[in-house]
Amino acid sequence: MIHEIQVKSALHYHKRAFATHWDLNCYRGCGHHCVYCFAQYSHKYLESKNFFDDIWVKTNIAKVLEKDFSKKSWCGACVNVCGVTDGYQPIEQKFQLMPSIIQCFIEHRNPLAITTKSHWVVRDLPLLTQLNKVAYVVLRMSISTTDENLREKLEPYASKIHDRFEALKRFAAAGLDTGILLMPIIPYINDSFENLESIFKEAKSCGVKEIVADILHLRGYTRQNFLGHVQKLFPQHTNRIRSLYEGSYADKIYSKALHQKIASLRSKYKFNAPLPNTVHMTQRSKQLELFS
Ligand code: SF4
Repeated sequence: MIHEIQVKSALHYHKRAFATHWDLNCYRGCGHHCVYCFAQYSHKYLESKNFFDDIWVKTNIAKVLEKDFSKKSWCGACVNVCGVTDGYQPIEQKFQLMPSIIQCFIEHRNPLAITTKSHWVVRDLPLLTQLNKVAYVVLRMSISTTDENLREKLEPYASKIHDRFEALKRFAAAGLDTGILLMPIIPYINDSFENLESIFKEAKSCGVKEIVADILHLRGYTRQNFLGHVQKLFPQHTNRIRSLYEGSYADKIYSKALHQKIASLRSKYKFNAPLPNTVHMTQRSKQLELFS
């Protein structure tokens, strides 16, 4: 069910920064149906517990963002858009909230980071290219496998992997910074050296500048939900995965070995220069860069 709602604020501050301290999410709930979804907690205070099919649409978000950006107190920080729920999930094709949001970033010359699993972000490439002329823009595509059969099991309604790489290629060709979030890496499912290497290799050929990798965490509701899916989709791995996750985090020896694999790939494919740090980036810093 779709719930159209009006919100009072568009920007939210998080003490713990992932890319930035500020985020904006135009939807609550997400139609991508990822089996490991970490964002289900965000439905905790809503009457529905069906995160994937009950979607709240913040229809006035661009107007509210305009007000937020116009406040004297707005610090001009880089904002991570779609950090919790995907702004380019299927319903965006109907509501088209993202173009007016990006337009607002252009008018205020505000830096922007986008995280998505959808190639639909390409629709907004012209606007994002315009923004990139006056403020920093980075697209981070979430990709955790190159195996399309596995992708269909893990992220059934997200874009095909090939389309996500194509989107990255087009952004890089337009001069925008791009990165890959190689996560979650799930023990025994997508953690093979071959799978990880195929992502590094393809990323390089698409002009991707940075890869951030992380192992699956199993906190709260995600744990119960994910293990239920594993039982159905990968019954042969259920016990092995359970034994690696006594708590929320994977076994330390396993994690260390995985990080070594990633480090060797990072060095082999020369992903050694991270993208600009957006945590403390502001409009002013971009202006100074432009005039330096
Ligand atoms: S794209 Fe993100 S928010 Fe959407 S279902 Fe997948 S993990 Fe959850």
